[in-house]
Amino acid sequence: MAGNFFRVACGDCDNEQVVFEKASTPVSCAVCGTTLATPTGGEAEIEGEIVETVEAR
Ligand SMILES: [Zn+2]
Repeated sequence: MAGNFFRVACGDCDNEQVVFEKASTPVSCAVCGTTLATPTGGEAEIEGEIVETVEAR
């Protein structure tokens, strides 16, 4: 099974960014650099607010 993607809103700015739910590397906001997701070995820990889940096709 492929993982889903989350659309995550940065808590520090209004940027929204798509993050893979099983990201294996830390994901930072492209605008302000805040960490949006931290890898845990399984599903990434999402630091921002999940706006929507985008199912993989
Ligand atoms: Zn940001």
